[in-house]
Amino acid sequence: MATTTCQGVGDLIVGWDRAMKFEFVAGNLALDFANTVHNHGSSDPQDDLQTYEDLMDWSRQAGLLKERKRRELQSKKPAQEKLEFAGTMKLREAVYAIFFNRARGQRVPREALQRLNWHLKHVMTGATLQSAGKQFALAWEAAVPQQRVRGEITCSAVSLLTSERLDRVRQCAGENCTWLFLDTSRNGLRRWCDMQACGNRAKMRSFRQRKAAGLPNAGV
Ligand SMILES: [Zn+2]
Repeated sequence: MATTTCQGVGDLIVGWDRAMKFEFVAGNLALDFANTVHNHGSSDPQDDLQTYEDLMDWSRQAGLLKERKRRELQSKKPAQEKLEFAGTMKLREAVYAIFFNRARGQRVPREALQRLNWHLKHVMTGATLQSAGKQFALAWEAAVPQQRVRGEITCSAVSLLTSERLDRVRQCAGENCTWLFLDTSRNGLRRWCDMQACGNRAKMRSFRQRKAAGLPNAGV
């Protein structure tokens, strides 16, 4: 499978709408999904997706589900919801492990790749290629909207992994920030997941350090 027809819908989701519950700053759907955990891998991680309802809210804000579909999903049986939630969280761990290690130039864990492959195989069985305006896009059975959530996330990850843009996946340079992002800047020197948050904190820290050291041009 050298090529993919996935549309990489997440590439269209950029910017941080402060009115939203979740942040979308990575420039890629799969990376934004991975970023729903803060301080990933630390002794004190914070997970934005604690429940199935959180996952549905995230999916709606990501544009993967319409409100009607979200309500339909929430009417499912608890046992089924639990199963789907657990499966999607495992997908998130695999996506994070793959891109985190790739961004740091480290070996991608085989188990993570195997898990992503499992999801790829699974979601593709329910996917069809359909025309979408002048282009084409993968679509999933409307009766199983949850499959679309996992399908879009999986395809976003696979699309990025099989493209030249993979070299532009970065981990935020912010202190204690474990978020990942796709650097689409012209010079390829973007360092922070979000300039307003991590970027400004880093600049303020630099300013204070230079000031304390009595260096000129503090904060530049
Ligand atoms: Zn950051």
